[in-house]
Amino acid sequence: MDAYDIIVIGGGAAGLMAAGFAARSGVRVLVLEKMDYPARKLGITGKGRCNLTNTAGHAEFLKRFGNGAGFLRPSLESFDNRSLMDFFSGIGIELVAERGGRVFPADARAPRVSRALRAWCEAGGARIVCDSPVTEICTENGRVTRVRCGQRSLSARAVIVATGGASYPLTGSTGDGYLWSAALGHTIVPVRPALIGLETRESRLCACDGLSVRNCRARLVVNGRERAEEFGELQLMRYGLSGPVILTLSGMAVDALLARKKVQVSIDLKPSLSREKLEARLKRDISSRGAERLGSLLRGLLPRELVGVCCTQAGLKPGSPSAGLKERERARLLDWLKNFTHTVSGHRPLDEAIITAGGVSLAEVDPHTMESQLVRGLYFAGEILDLQADTGGYNLQAAFSTGRAAGRAAAKA
Ligand SMILES: Cc1cc2nc3c(=O)[nH]c(=O)nc-3n(C[C@H](O)[C@H](O)[C@H](O)COP(=O)(O)OP(=O)(O)OC[C@H]3O[C@@H](n4cnc5c(N)ncnc54)[C@H](O)[C@@H]3O)c2cc1C
Repeated sequence: MDAYDIIVIGGGAAGLMAAGFAARSGVRVLVLEKMDYPARKLGITGKGRCNLTNTAGHAEFLKRFGNGAGFLRPSLESFDNRSLMDFFSGIGIELVAERGGRVFPADARAPRVSRALRAWCEAGGARIVCDSPVTEICTENGRVTRVRCGQRSLSARAVIVATGGASYPLTGSTGDGYLWSAALGHTIVPVRPALIGLETRESRLCACDGLSVRNCRARLVVNGRERAEEFGELQLMRYGLSGPVILTLSGMAVDALLARKKVQVSIDLKPSLSREKLEARLKRDISSRGAERLGSLLRGLLPRELVGVCCTQAGLKPGSPSAGLKERERARLLDWLKNFTHTVSGHRPLDEAIITAGGVSLAEVDPHTMESQLVRGLYFAGEILDLQADTGGYNLQAAFSTGRAAGRAAAKA
């Protein structure tokens, strides 16, 4: 194989962006991709539609990264959501912004985004070689010298590690980069799932799998104290809870579970009505439809699948006439509607996480260039870094911004 200036390990969102920008600076770039084609994960993002960024302003955007905001700032400011949208429009991907500022390709086809990025990368002069799992990064005198890939040993003056996280391993992200980074002296912040479904004790009560509940408010309660709340859609799954509001709360929930704290999610199914207004509505319904069975009356307030759960948990008889509902039963019903509580017993496995939290410690990486502060010529980009955000297109933007920063800096060095 020819000699290269830069080897990019991993041809995902971050790696292809890094390679394309580096190659356009006039250096020889090789991308080594473990799978049979690059950017598999990008091709399944956003439920196959690829939510590639968000229209949020800079401050709001950075807020989504919590403690990682300061690190992301320089690379995001030099390649922000507007620049990314211009970039994709420039390579033939027309975009649309939807609810919550989420940006998608207008044709809603994530695999086309992967193919366009690959084509752009190769058109810039980068060579992408698939079916090439890297097994080791070698150094001499504190500087990167080569990588091992099967029987081959390939030299380069810079190596960009863009191997992603450790979730959805069938896409190629199996956490390989963490091992080499640790072997080279980097601190790996413990890897754990983020944006993940939560398993609950109450799951066996609900015979639902994938039931969407819209316009609800979910509160995360840790050791009896409210820690966060989210408004929007959630899903009741056979194992517990998922959907956008739960994914957003899940990072905090996983950390609390790891710290062995008691974690609950309390769902207000009628957040637009105060308890008093909801009670007034219930009384009105009962006075006009008192002869109807309670179960049938509740169908006006709840998805059909939840009526039985509600009656079981609130101790009500769905078959009895609504007019017979006693005051204390009505109070229990109101409590349930405003506070449908789930005790979290665990989380889904890392394999199923949208994002891997943790990774290469940001304290050991230059946020302008993405270069390691421990090993010269070693760069990081994308999810391998300890950088994670909510759903909404933020994570892909971070992969693209850090990828571009690494590619440009490695080419100049
Ligand atoms: C189901 C799902 C949906 C998602 N939807 C969205 C969304 O809509 N919007 C959003 O912002 N984020 C989304 N994400 C998150 C987003 O996909 C990731 O944050 C992003 O792909 C990270 O990019 P990356 O390049 O760092 O890693 P990856 O995309 O994981 O790419 C890493 C690459 O490195 C390769 N590799 C790994 N090890 C080796 C090795 N030893 N040798 C050679 N190559 C190797 C892998 O095969 C892979 O191609 C989603 C994630 C999942 C799982």
